[in-house]
Amino acid sequence: MKRQLEHLEKAARERRLAHLLLFHGESLLYQREVALRLAQILNCSQPIPEGPCQVCSSCRKILNGNHPDILWLKPLKTTIGIEQVLKWQEKVYLKHYEGIYKVSIIEHAEALTIPAANSLLKVIEEPPERTVIILSADNAEGVLPTIHSRAQLVYFPNLSEQAWLEGVEEDKRHEAIQAFQLSGENQNLATDILKHGVQTLQEWLGKFRTAIQERNFLKLFALFPIDKNQANLYLQVMAVQAQEGIKKGTTRPYELLAIGNAVDVLRQQVNPRLVIEVLALELFQQGGDFCD
Ligand SMILES: [Zn+2]
Repeated sequence: MKRQLEHLEKAARERRLAHLLLFHGESLLYQREVALRLAQILNCSQPIPEGPCQVCSSCRKILNGNHPDILWLKPLKTTIGIEQVLKWQEKVYLKHYEGIYKVSIIEHAEALTIPAANSLLKVIEEPPERTVIILSADNAEGVLPTIHSRAQLVYFPNLSEQAWLEGVEEDKRHEAIQAFQLSGENQNLATDILKHGVQTLQEWLGKFRTAIQERNFLKLFALFPIDKNQANLYLQVMAVQAQEGIKKGTTRPYELLAIGNAVDVLRQQVNPRLVIEVLALELFQQGGDFCD
């Protein structure tokens, strides 16, 4: 995260920041803070090495929320509608008042209605000069794909995730984030998942799920051989998914119980293949969708 923000700030200082950014993840407040800091960097009249000076008129107005070239869009009640976007659009195409850059901050971007997102898209495709649009959202997937695909994505992990990602190299970040999410934010389990390989794990779990849903023994048998460590890892991740499913109401509690039993039996030196087969049989009998 820290390194990613440094890159953004550097790009802003050098006036080569992408004109569409999509912040997503935890803490909209933190996202807002970063957006405002970038707006300051872009507009500060006497920047210092550490960043914006915080004392010039631009910096202060941005901090106080009354800079005329910083535009906000937020949901009225639950959505951001087309009227709001059209009004905003007029301001975007007006001349800059006093700032060097016009920065628009669109919060809860998932709340854009489809017509609103489509008019936004027109601005994105033909942006006025010296314009930066920052979308902020909990979940990037909730933003219309046509917008999503044009944006530079900046992911904001939560605190425990940040601690986990500390020191992870840039090219391993994506896999490390996936491992952490699969582990239910359990660092030990996430480490094991990374060692094993996220993709291998997801493939195996996906095939297991299909075998259960289709009650297909042949597909089940194709999942072996696996050793005890693998079986243990798969069962733990299934347990995390079942717990999340129970919270969402998509998984029934007996599934978690069955997985828990399988973990216990596996500890008693039982053949891992047998443990998984017994679990599968139990889930077959109860029927229904396994951890979806
Ligand atoms: Zn300043």
